[in-house]
Order: sequence, then structure tokens, then C-alpha cells
Amino acid sequence: MQAGNSLRGDFGQAVLCADIGGSFIKFGISRQPGHVEELERLPTPKADWRDLAEALQRLADKADPSRSLPLGLSVAGLVDPVNGAGLSANIPPLTGLPIAEAIASVAGRAVLAANDADCLTLAEANDGAGRGYPVVFCIIMGTGIGGGLAIDGRIVRGAGGVTGEWGHGPAMNTSVEIGGRLVPVPRFACNCGQSGCIDTIGGARGMERLHGLFHEEARSSHRIIEDWQAGETKAANTIDAYLQLVADPLAVAINTVGAFIVPVGGGLASAEKLIATLDEAVRARILHRLDRPLLVPAIRREDGGLVGAAVLARQGATDVRAA
Ligand SMILES: [Zn+2]
Repeated sequence: MQAGNSLRGDFGQAVLCADIGGSFIKFGISRQPGHVEELERLPTPKADWRDLAEALQRLADKADPSRSLPLGLSVAGLVDPVNGAGLSANIPPLTGLPIAEAIASVAGRAVLAANDADCLTLAEANDGAGRGYPVVFCIIMGTGIGGGLAIDGRIVRGAGGVTGEWGHGPAMNTSVEIGGRLVPVPRFACNCGQSGCIDTIGGARGMERLHGLFHEEARSSHRIIEDWQAGETKAANTIDAYLQLVADPLAVAINTVGAFIVPVGGGLASAEKLIATLDEAVRARILHRLDRPLLVPAIRREDGGLVGAAVLARQGATDVRAA
């Protein structure tokens, strides 16, 4: 079938990719799926979107003077799937800007943009721990909580660009069982304007907040995890509560999307025992019985932005040709 041939051709096409973070832009080229070569890294211009667009134009023109290759962007912020408008706390000029369209107008080439969690999801679904699975729910457990959903290797671009964001919404239990007694947990106020969001207790800062609540002392998430593994009681209490509070809503999210695999990105993903213990807690709560790990550390934790942006550009080029 002709479409099949053209698809294979498109998937072999080189694409440009950039990971636009709050501090740095990483820029690269992907000559074949699954491989990205980082070419340059520079501070993110944040005063005006035109400075950012011109920086991307220079980087892209250096790599591809003919302007024939599409450019995929991973953006630290949300991208509305209807109007393409950004919402970024870290890069204020992107808020309200139709990102891909605006940057394409300066760069003079096809540009596709998606949120950084969505790009990690694309990277995991196509070239990471989720490869080969039809429904991949990638979760981010970093300073806070995020996520993205891919079906058949493509990102689900839901209303408002917030698909997979299981960290927000007043979902938190108001008590946990520690050592056989119920301990109250307040619904902490969240940056999103609500209270009781998993984001307030589920990331590294949230774990530290829980530890402060139970033990009235400040301890870093690294120390809490280390001390828990060493069998220290206070840290064990904190992690016990943490696992209950996080596993409950995560199990509901996994039931809802029907995830076959849940790659975990973000800083906490490097705590292998924590992820393995959370995996057991979650699998005990979901409806579908599984005798293999469901939550696994994401493989593309370091280069997920660039790899995902490359997947986005490659899929976008295919879409344009198919249309
Ligand atoms: Zn929230």
C-alpha cells in the first residue's frame, strides 16, 4: 500500500529537536528514530519570545541551512491543543503565545510543540520503557507531579493540554494509617489554586512536607529515602504514609486510562527501591491483576525532552504528508 511506503520513508527522515527548559535550551538533530545527537546548549532567552525564536532560528539554520527539516519543541509549560497557546511559569513570554506558529514564522520551517511531560511520554512510548505497549501512561515524580498519555505511540492531546496530569485535583486522602493508627493529613494548598492535590505531597518537596508534618523536622527527600532503606523509624513512617497517599489516586488514574506500562520520570525515579515499592502498592490497588512490574523507571530520563521532540517532529511530518 502506498501509504505504508510513504510512512516508512517519513520515519527515516532526519528532524531537528529542541528541549526548551526554564534555564537552558538543548538543541539536537535526530537522523534516525531513537537516536538524537545533541548539537548545542545555551541559556533560554526569557525576556521576549522573539529572542527565543531567533535563537532557535540560528541553531536550526546552522544544522539545516536549506530549512527543509521540521523542528520539534519540548516546552517547559502547557501547550493548548486547540489554539497552540502556551502557559509557562518558567518562561513567561510563552504564556498566551501560539508557540509553534509564532516560532515557525521566525524560523521559516515547520515547527511542532508539546509540553515537556508529553515529550517524555512520547520518548518512552516510542524509544523507551513503553516501546511496544499500546497504552503508555508516563508519570513524572520530580519536585512535583505530572504525566502524559500515549496511545499507539502518539500523545493524547486532550482539552487544555493537561492529559495525564494526575497530580492535580482534590484527590488526597485526609488520613493515613501509620503503625496501626489513623493520622490526619491536611489538604495542603496547591499552586494550581486548589487544595488536596497529589502534587502537594507526591513529589520530592511533598515527601519533605509530609516528613515535617509527622515528625516536626526538616529532612531532604534524599535523606528520607536513604534512612527508610536503612530501616530508620521516622523515615519509614513518612514513606509508609507517602506510599498510601500516592498509590490510591495513582491506581484510579491507571484504571481510568488502562495503562499497560507506567514509566516513571523525574528525580524520584532514580530511587529504584521507592519506585519498586510504589509499584507493588499500586498493583495491589488496580483492577487488572499483573504479575510483572507496571511502574518502571523511565529509560529516557536524561534526554526525554530531545528524543520526544524528535518523535513529535517525525510524526508531524507524517501527518502533514498524509493530509
Ligand atoms: Zn494542584
